Amino acid sequence: MNNILNDSIILVEDNELNNHHLELKKQIESSGYHLNPDAEFTKSLLKSIILNEKRYGYGVCPCRLAVNNKKDDLDIICPCDYRDPDLDEYGACYCGLYISGEILKGKSKLKSIPERRPSPEQREILKNKSISEILSSSTTPMWRCKVCGYLCAREQPPEICPICKVERERFEIFK
Ligand code: SF4
Repeated sequence: MNNILNDSIILVEDNELNNHHLELKKQIESSGYHLNPDAEFTKSLLKSIILNEKRYGYGVCPCRLAVNNKKDDLDIICPCDYRDPDLDEYGACYCGLYISGEILKGKSKLKSIPERRPSPEQREILKNKSISEILSSSTTPMWRCKVCGYLCAREQPPEICPICKVERERFEIFK
């Protein structure tokens, strides 16, 4: 059963937000990701994620509508399932909380990012598919870090291996 929500009593203290911002920045930068350097914008997104965490019990995406049922919201708990493909294709996640190294270094510009999340009807169909059906219909390449063996399925390998921290060029297509 859904919780009764009362936003008027949910608060995020400034120090809680600042600590979370610092901690997340440290954490994601050591995994080869980048937070948007616009601290004010980033903190406003983080504040919404913390509020959602207090509201629903999980930190759902601040740019999407949650249904207050973790199973159905799982794909949009931050970082969402769509972050990496959006970083590969658009240089930022849907909300702009995460950005690529290219954007950070000013080598490319941010553009608008269309919603990649399947519609509720499409998600319902996907839910009923077996793993082998999903794998056989996927065209996403699989990448392997040649140094530590980390595997990931995405259009391009990550900028930095989240496990051993080597650069993208050390990845190979894995068959
Ligand atoms: S779009 Fe960005 S902020 Fe929203 S859940 Fe995905 S990673 Fe988090």
